[in-house]
Amino acid sequence: MPSVPLDFLGDLRRTHTCGELRASDAGKKALLMGWVHRRRDLGGVIFIHLRDRDGVTQLVFHEDAEPAVHQKAELLASEYVIAAEGTLALRTAENINPAIPTGEVELVVEKLWILNESRTPPFPMEDNVDVKEDARLKYRYVDLRRPRMQHNIILRSKMAYAVRQELTEQGFLEIETPFLTRSTPEGARDYLVPARVSPGNFYALPQSPQIFKQLLMVAGFEKYFQIVRCFRDEDLRADRQPEFTQIDLEMSFPQQETIYQVIERMLKAVAKAAGCEIEIPLPRLTYAEALRSYGSDKPDLRLPPFHCVEDLFKGENLTTEGLPLVAIRVPKTGPVSRKERDELKAFGQERRLRVFDDAKRLERDFPAAMAEVRARTGATDDDLLMLCGWSGDAKGQRPEETMLLAAGHLRLQAGQKYNDRHQLLDPKDFRFLWVVDFPMFEWDEEESRWNAAHHPFTSVHDEDLDKLTTDPAHCRAKSYDVVLNGTELGSGSIRIHRRDVQAQVFAALGLSDEEARHKFGFLLDALEYGAPPHGGIALGLDRLVMLLAGETSIRDVIPFPKTAKGTDLMCEAPSDVPERALRELGISIRKK
Ligand code: ASP
Repeated sequence: MPSVPLDFLGDLRRTHTCGELRASDAGKKALLMGWVHRRRDLGGVIFIHLRDRDGVTQLVFHEDAEPAVHQKAELLASEYVIAAEGTLALRTAENINPAIPTGEVELVVEKLWILNESRTPPFPMEDNVDVKEDARLKYRYVDLRRPRMQHNIILRSKMAYAVRQELTEQGFLEIETPFLTRSTPEGARDYLVPARVSPGNFYALPQSPQIFKQLLMVAGFEKYFQIVRCFRDEDLRADRQPEFTQIDLEMSFPQQETIYQVIERMLKAVAKAAGCEIEIPLPRLTYAEALRSYGSDKPDLRLPPFHCVEDLFKGENLTTEGLPLVAIRVPKTGPVSRKERDELKAFGQERRLRVFDDAKRLERDFPAAMAEVRARTGATDDDLLMLCGWSGDAKGQRPEETMLLAAGHLRLQAGQKYNDRHQLLDPKDFRFLWVVDFPMFEWDEEESRWNAAHHPFTSVHDEDLDKLTTDPAHCRAKSYDVVLNGTELGSGSIRIHRRDVQAQVFAALGLSDEEARHKFGFLLDALEYGAPPHGGIALGLDRLVMLLAGETSIRDVIPFPKTAKGTDLMCEAPSDVPERALRELGISIRKK
């Protein structure tokens, strides 16, 4: 039983939202609906802040003018759902609230309906209260009422709309692909769904619509997109979700250039929807360049690049023969303590770098070379300058890559450590770029074989086609990533559209014809029925919204996210199922 008498909605209709009324509306009648955000009882007068999606409007109840309505308002508490009708009045000068758009007016209530009561909410509906994430996720429907979360979810909707609008204008069709399907080639573990009507068999939830979008190109749709959920059963890292949303697209007859243009225009439109201006075309780096300047395939351009300076120290034995010596500059650190330098050195050493952190000493030992290092890096006395080389043998298939990636970690670590001094890592400084021409293959140490760096349907560079079997380490792929401030937002590639080339790539990957047929037979068949040249890309919508919203966790831009352990605390999924359901599926659970 409700603790207060409740009214029916009946045919009540709102005339305005709670964010809409202004001084120029004074004197108008209005009927508002929403949640009791705050209530102040001054005896003869009660003030209520009424909240809906659009904003907050002050309601006022006067005991002497409307005693019955005032009495009813005494029953109200936080988060009750009400409808209130009255006349809009200007607030007295001392009551004006410049912080909210409706702050000059209040609704003098003549009729009140209580549509529902609320238990005391588990935490206040404010942004600046510290609430444990577990509580936020358990009562997500309450958490989502808070202004920051409302803002994020509304922003997400606007951005998704901008994607649809822009891509539709560019001639793309929004086409759905199945969720109950077979394994897809993205390389993570699949979520499996037992098939009741075919006992012992399973569907896989798609890790991406990769194969289907390629089939849509074979089917002649030419330009496809979808804002689509993808599922990857990975060991969850801090900011991964088992299901996540991609802006997925594919087109026929494209150059790489065509795809960059499509995506740049889309990113510009999406950023605009989020209130940000970005300049296009975006800068581009080849993977080789990104590696030699940033030691990363997703460089954060807000920090300065590093410089390879091994040519200045020939014969000095500062790095392993044949590997780079890297000069890292961190701007405006001012004097750096011995302890801080030791920490950075230890960070580098853990990654097998040989770190020379004492710039003064280097300058004494190698004055001419160090003068040139300063010239190349632009380092001043106010900056931190370090050199690093490799401490061991040049092992592995691409040892230079291994060394540079380690140096890239050190660059970022040092840059982040001093951000309070140089403040270059401004989250509102959006530095997008393309990284292109990735290596085709990555060496799998455990299995002693090559894996596709992107996925096995990615085209090799025309000039590298003959190296597929002779020199896989140095084959470049027609693949590209779009990166924002050190985060990979999306990747894609020009695909293989010829059956014979696809067979060569499978062979390079050590995939027998039989295995390839078992996994992707229907795509291979389709390639034999007039597949056009095609290519595409997928971008993570969650990450994009997170970065443009200035958030640091994707959980804050997903309405109902899972915890880092993959559970939904609100509906308590995953959960056990009745024995009967398992029996129908032909499944028995082996006891632990
Ligand atoms: N399917 C790829 C992925 O999800 C993207 C693409 O190649 O279009 O990473």
